[in-house]
Amino acid sequence: MSTSDTSAAGREDDGPGNFIAESVREEVARGDHGDPPTIVTRFPPEPNGFINIGHAKSICMQFAIAREHGGRCNLRFDDTNPLKEKVDYVEAIKEDIRWLGFSWDAEVYASDYFEQLYQWAEQLVRDGLAYVDERSEEEIRRTRGDFHTPGEDHASRDRPSEESLALLRKMRAGELDEGAAVLRAKIDMQSKDLKLRDPLMYRIRKVPHHRTGDAWCIYPMYDWAHGQSDAIEGITHSICTLEFLNHHALYDWFLMALRLKDAPDAAPTQIEFGRMNLTHTVLSKRKNLEIVEAGHVGGWDDPRMPTLSGLRRRGYSPEGIRAFVERIGVSKNDGDVDVGLLEHALREDLNARSPRYMAVLRPLELKITNYEGEGEALLLPHFSDGRDDPPTRAVPFGSSIFVERDDFMKDAPKKWWRLAPGREVRLRGAALVTVNEVVEEGGEVVELRCTWDPASRGGNAADGRKVRGTVHFVAAHAAVDAEVRLYDRLFGVPHPEQAEGGFMAALNPDSLEVLTGCKCEPALAAVAPETRVQFERLGYFVAERHEHSPERPVFNRTITLKDSWAKLAKKLGR
Ligand code: ATP
Ligand code: MG
Repeated sequence: MSTSDTSAAGREDDGPGNFIAESVREEVARGDHGDPPTIVTRFPPEPNGFINIGHAKSICMQFAIAREHGGRCNLRFDDTNPLKEKVDYVEAIKEDIRWLGFSWDAEVYASDYFEQLYQWAEQLVRDGLAYVDERSEEEIRRTRGDFHTPGEDHASRDRPSEESLALLRKMRAGELDEGAAVLRAKIDMQSKDLKLRDPLMYRIRKVPHHRTGDAWCIYPMYDWAHGQSDAIEGITHSICTLEFLNHHALYDWFLMALRLKDAPDAAPTQIEFGRMNLTHTVLSKRKNLEIVEAGHVGGWDDPRMPTLSGLRRRGYSPEGIRAFVERIGVSKNDGDVDVGLLEHALREDLNARSPRYMAVLRPLELKITNYEGEGEALLLPHFSDGRDDPPTRAVPFGSSIFVERDDFMKDAPKKWWRLAPGREVRLRGAALVTVNEVVEEGGEVVELRCTWDPASRGGNAADGRKVRGTVHFVAAHAAVDAEVRLYDRLFGVPHPEQAEGGFMAALNPDSLEVLTGCKCEPALAAVAPETRVQFERLGYFVAERHEHSPERPVFNRTITLKDSWAKLAKKLGR
């Protein structure tokens, strides 16, 4: 991890900082929220795509803060833009949050409040605090000025409120065309805060909404919906990422104008925190949609996607993701997090909980010429980390087995501890073997012939001679053919959004390799979809969520065993 998430979080021995949780704790201790305290938070996604690992940071925090104080956390869909939103996304977001391990107290929608918002809009018009402008959005934008230039007042600002009210009602009734008028808040066209230069509250969009159908043809802007939704739900802490910092004043202005907030520090309170960026990854829903629509991946839940559905299919565990989020903490600045840290947290979790199996990805046949006892099964433990009574599975053994093609070398260097002519090697959990014949066809090695030491059952020599190398295997007579999908990073460069030509140009063309004809032990073929396992010596894999079956096993590689981050993390004391 680099930059701000490390420094700004004010790390101490008791873990990374979370300035929001700390300040809520202080408020509660002061009695600001009553006794017992009432703390209400919400997670407010727009249902315009699948949520990703960045959202996980927000979800974990929103729920944790509410839970810590016996409060509530709502799931609120910010569904104010029917052009981009879909009920499929709503369902996917709900499933992903549940999978991550959270259950919300209320499932609510900004669209639940459309009528109330409209009534409030009429109230503002009557109070002279909002007006209808019949110019195009383009024209309005042009006269808004910029950072250096004040905006221009337009005559419609001064039209009588009855006139605006009549127009607003026509907008709602569908009597005006799309683009014919907008409702604007009457604030200050000269304000230094550009968001306060008479922002749009409603525009006409003659499109059906996934929940309200044809009931509306005017839709509230995000800013008009958000703070009011918070107020309706009694949200005490409206926690957002930093891109919303410049919406802060407008959020308060609406609440004050509606007299929903009597003092500037009354609830709901807005707090902004740093958005998480992950190296080799693009996190916004909008950008992920581009990747999906361009067909670079199989869909939103492709195992290469940073979406929670994608990570799930890739074999990430919710516990691993939560541990990662915990570890990065919450800071006031946007922070780049090294994807290696996520992978490190994942490996730690998977290592402790993934049963071990053997699978051979690129098989080479090995015959044990002096082995008799065909069809025997070894009882091997799923874990060999010293735990009491580890679960076991039956692993067939026989005179013909498959080993990994990469584990054999014909002209091996001295320090090669795997298979090579004349070298003694351990077959994991089985016995010691020595290759003494290499069968080749057309220059390609097609079979190895070897002898075993019958006194080495279990894998160790009776006379105590040391054998350094161990290889894994699958017995040929019982092997089940499997498809294995090897995934690599979707983006080859650490900062795809800064790449020349944009992030789409930085996609890694070799992010998927599909291997067929892999061999797996029968117990492995029998696991249920989504079972997370370790293939010994190869990495962590998961039985494909949608496609794996005992008859046609399919596994996705979650991650390799090698952890380049572990060393660094140790050095940094994490
Ligand atoms: P879009 O690209 O459509 O804006 P988004 O990825 O920004 O999508 P939102 O629906 O706007 O997603 O965000 C929902 C909530 O999740 C917001 O409160 C936002 O602050 C939070 N969130 C989104 N992305 C991140 C991130 N990378 N890190 C932390 N929080 C995030
Ligand atoms: Mg957003």
